[in-house]
Amino acid sequence: MQIRRLKLSGFKSFVEPAELRIEPGLTGVVGPNGCGKSNLLEAIRWVMGESSAKSMRGAGMEDVIFAGTATRPSRGFAEVMLTADTDPDGPFGGELEVVRRIERGAGSAYRVNGRDVRAKDVSLVFADAATGAHSPALVSQGRIAAVIAAKPAERRMMLEEAAGIAGLHVRRRDAEQK
Ligand code: ATP
Ligand code: MG
Repeated sequence: MQIRRLKLSGFKSFVEPAELRIEPGLTGVVGPNGCGKSNLLEAIRWVMGESSAKSMRGAGMEDVIFAGTATRPSRGFAEVMLTADTDPDGPFGGELEVVRRIERGAGSAYRVNGRDVRAKDVSLVFADAATGAHSPALVSQGRIAAVIAAKPAERRMMLEEAAGIAGLHVRRRDAEQK
C-alpha cells in the first residue's frame, strides 16, 4: 500500500481545506516549531482509526476539531481523507479512499471507497496491509526513543505490525467471543 494523497479540513491547525500529495519513497516533514508537522502525522494515524485521544495529544477526541483562534471561529467538524494505491487484484481494486469525520457531539464516522464502515473495519484494512495507526512506517516525534526504550513485548507488537499480522489478533478475539 502506498499513501498518495491526504486531504484535511478542520483538523487541528489545518482549518482551511488542505491537500498534500505524497510521492513514493521516504517522506520527511520539516518546518518551524508549531507549524503543524506533528498534526499532519496525527491526521494520518487518525484516519487509520486511532482511538486514543491521548495519543492525539488531546483530552477527548473532539479536541482534534479546529478550536478557533483570536481571529477565527472554531469549527463544528474535522475531516481527513486518505487516498492510497493498493494491489489492483486486492479487495479495493487499486485505489483505496478512506474518510474519517468527527462532529461535535456526534462522534466519528468512517467511509471506505464511499461505503459507511465501522472503525474496526478501517483498522483491519491497514493492519492487513502492514501499516496503520501504530505502524512503524509512521515515525512521529519521540518515536525513535520509544522504540529504543520499548519492552520486549512492545517490540514484538511493533514487529507484528510491520509483518502485517496484527489484524489476526483482532480476528482471533472476535472468533473466541462468538
Ligand atoms: P514542533 O516542531 O514544536 O514539534 P510541530 O510542527 O510538530 O511543532 P504541531 O504540534 O503539529 O507543530 O502543531 C502545533 C499547533 O497546532 C499549535 O499552534 C496548536 O495551537 C495547534 N493546534 C493543535 N490542536 C489544535 C486545535 N484543535 N485547534 C486549533 N489549533 C490547534
Ligand atoms: Mg512536533
